Amino acid sequence: MLIVQKYGGTSVGDVSRIKNVARRVVKKHQEGHQMVVVVSAMGDTTDDLIKLAREISDNPSPREMDMLLSTGEQVSVALLSMAIKSLGVEAVSLTGPQAGIKTDEVYSKARIKFIDCSRLRAELGAGKIVVVAGFQGLNDNNDITTLGRGGSDTTAVALAAALQADLCEIYTDVDGVFTTDPRVVPTARKLEAITYDEMLELAHLGAAVLHPRAVECAKIYGIPLHVRSSFNNNPGTIVKEETDMEKNMVITGITFNKNVAKLGIFGVPDQPGIAYMVFKMLAERNINVDMIVQSSVRNGVNDISFTVAQDDLRKSLETIEEIIKVVGATGYTHDAHVAMVSVVGAGMTSNPGVAAMMFGALADENINIEMISTSDIKISCIVKNHEAEKAVRALHKKFELEEMGQCHCCAS
Ligand code: ADP
Ligand code: ASP
Ligand code: MG
Repeated sequence: MLIVQKYGGTSVGDVSRIKNVARRVVKKHQEGHQMVVVVSAMGDTTDDLIKLAREISDNPSPREMDMLLSTGEQVSVALLSMAIKSLGVEAVSLTGPQAGIKTDEVYSKARIKFIDCSRLRAELGAGKIVVVAGFQGLNDNNDITTLGRGGSDTTAVALAAALQADLCEIYTDVDGVFTTDPRVVPTARKLEAITYDEMLELAHLGAAVLHPRAVECAKIYGIPLHVRSSFNNNPGTIVKEETDMEKNMVITGITFNKNVAKLGIFGVPDQPGIAYMVFKMLAERNINVDMIVQSSVRNGVNDISFTVAQDDLRKSLETIEEIIKVVGATGYTHDAHVAMVSVVGAGMTSNPGVAAMMFGALADENINIEMISTSDIKISCIVKNHEAEKAVRALHKKFELEEMGQCHCCAS
């Protein structure tokens, strides 16, 4: 079999953990499998590199940021490859560009366009374990790009698709995908299986355990993912097209996302084409807008509120200054201290009352809801940032998702 495995930052967080990963990979190789191993930067390396850049500049060049952040993964591939070789097995470390990963131009959230697998195939053909740096690629200018925080998952799935791998395993620091973040709710329950669509919602809405684009790619290419722990051999969670394991569940999971900022534009003229102008200008600057709420018209004007990732707040505020002039709005406001909490479940389409239950649980905790958005399989609310965890705990309880008396956190 050709197996693609991905190990996250905690799983390669120090020398003994890198040696642990090397032993696991070598064992599989010795069973006769071809192995491609994608790794993240060690521990908090990426955060530390971002802090370092901020000490130099408030607004560092996106190209240089990607150049900087890609180094974290280079350290771990080199060390893992050395660890494998010291166990007597041939290995080679490759950066994203060396592995043939080509992306679009968008620094810090580049998308993989295609993978030239020739080098990978040659190294595998020579019997080596191939260790690939996650989260990076090369754009058409031959510059290094990164795929967005958590993007090593996407590297792994894209490689599995390109190489038509038989198995794609995502090794992390928890036992699988849980009903919510097990670090916030220790009684969260591990899901044996989850559909791509539900996992995609959970990932988009803040469940860090999988990068949303990894799930998107897995769904497009029909690659089942096995999300599991690198610290034990417990079966994890299978992400796939259909599941009947959780069919009777109305709600599959609860998420929260603190990387959210709320913006509002006041006194926007109520005319055709104005909303188009506002969101076109944001899109042109690669700012993803999430929730959008437009107030009812008063005296020919309305207010438009929306949310963006906190990382994009600075760019959004600069854009709003321009938008106001272009559309003739009267002013704007912003709040960086908000979070989004969401309930997700395919079962909610056929079960009325989920929204009422959610709002009731938040009201019982005296948590104010600032914005609401819904889709077929999720309901999201914007709340104050410091109330996010309290909201998640209340919702997890209200929807009876917990497993009594067990804690699944297993990072150490
Ligand atoms: P890695 O470095 O292995 O990629 P991440 O930190 O990116 O690990 O993702 C794993 C973390 O995701 C877990 O430690 C957990 O705190 C968090 N998490 C959030 N939501 C969930 C969830 N629903 N199920 C499992 N883990 C979750
Ligand atoms: N090292 C990158 C990050 O911390 C990518 C990853 O871990 O997937 O976001
Ligand atoms: Mg991750």
